[in-house]
Amino acid sequence: MRIIPRDQHSISRRHISKAALRVLYGLHEAGYQALLVGGAVRDLLLGVQPKDFDIATDATPEQVRKLFRNCRLIGRRFRLAHVMFGREIIEVATFRGVGDPQDSDRHIVDGRIVRDNIWGSIEEDAVRRDFRANAMYYDIADFSVRDDVGGMQDLDDRVLRLIGDPETRYREDPVRMLRAARLAAKLEFSIDPSASAPFAELAPLLGEAPPARLFDESLKLFMAGYALKSFRMLRRYGLLAPLFPATARALDAGDQVLLEMIENGMANTDARIAEDKPVTPAFLFAVLLWGEVREIKQGMMDEGAPPSLAWQRASHQVVMTQSRHVAIPRRFTHVMEEIWTLQPRFAHRTPKRVFQLLEHPRFRAAYDFLLLRAGESDEMAEMGAWWTRAQEVPEDALSDELGASVRTRSGDAPRKRRRRRRRGRNEAGDKAE
Ligand code: ATP
Ligand code: MG
Repeated sequence: MRIIPRDQHSISRRHISKAALRVLYGLHEAGYQALLVGGAVRDLLLGVQPKDFDIATDATPEQVRKLFRNCRLIGRRFRLAHVMFGREIIEVATFRGVGDPQDSDRHIVDGRIVRDNIWGSIEEDAVRRDFRANAMYYDIADFSVRDDVGGMQDLDDRVLRLIGDPETRYREDPVRMLRAARLAAKLEFSIDPSASAPFAELAPLLGEAPPARLFDESLKLFMAGYALKSFRMLRRYGLLAPLFPATARALDAGDQVLLEMIENGMANTDARIAEDKPVTPAFLFAVLLWGEVREIKQGMMDEGAPPSLAWQRASHQVVMTQSRHVAIPRRFTHVMEEIWTLQPRFAHRTPKRVFQLLEHPRFRAAYDFLLLRAGESDEMAEMGAWWTRAQEVPEDALSDELGASVRTRSGDAPRKRRRRRRRGRNEAGDKAE
């Protein structure tokens, strides 16, 4: 293992969270090996603040649990210890070995790893990681960095190279293809040609990945502040189709309006995250699947379904079909369906309906969505502008303009409208978890 002493690399304990340091020292003082590993080491070496700190050790999960009061063991497929400090979770993983494929604790089915609980050495642990840049360790014993696989080289070259044979590694775990695209977007690295070459043939394997895991991965792709770059990376490498088949089909067929809408939605989300504003994955998923909703709705209306029923059914159908690929939780699909089914209601400008819509708890999200649709037609752009103004002019003036003096249905004084709308916005703005 190549060892880079503390004075020859840039990692300083000042940039490591207190919680992570406590776990590292706790393990070390108990006589175990304790090293920071993976994305945190990579990011620290790149001068980026890590999102989370993962630790590798030769202590077993049970031994880790005995050391820390605030510790929970999780996972079956991949057993880990979580040490909790308030909201911060430090993940502690025992070195994984390569093991004997016949061994009952490492299950490989059709080339896929379905369980991996064989303990090993740090050298073995390094080679079962995905990219060389992700397989470096920071040792709390002497503050050195350990690099067995050429990770430093890749950071210098700003490239993601897989450890081992790419095709084998993707067959073991197809989600690694998404990780390649995501990390390339996040770090602004390139993907080594040998690591991207198998995508074309192997991307369909993602269709068999557990939908819940693909949902988690989608959140990391789109809710971490670099959604637009992730999205372009997925498209470039043909990895969007296994996640969002209908979206990929529409875009491949050349739907420029949808493409622009999705890209604007992604850019808005990134900007909100950069400003620490709340964001909900429901909004982005609603944008991604919009083309499909509109098409199905139109088909139903052509067959004579009444509009409001067509909107509802189309919305529900898209959510159901999509959940076979990416399992979007119910609390988000519910919001998505509301955003979609509110769209036709923006066309009505009778006083009663205008004020009802302004009061709707999901008004804000639906309105933001309407603004994104400006590219669909001049009419749509005009509608967005109209509703922007409707929120700006005083309520009395708006009433006069609409040709009636209107109170909300409950007869509330006009001023209350503002407050209720704010609350609605918060509901729509649930943070991703
Ligand atoms: P991020 O900065 O976005 O968290 P990360 O590389 O830290 O990126 P994690 O999901 O936090 O991603 O994973 C931590 C580490 O675990 C990785 O750096 C890598 O070493 C290893 N790892 C994660 N997922 C896989 C996988 N599917 N196959 C092999 N190794 C993996
Ligand atoms: Mg990480």
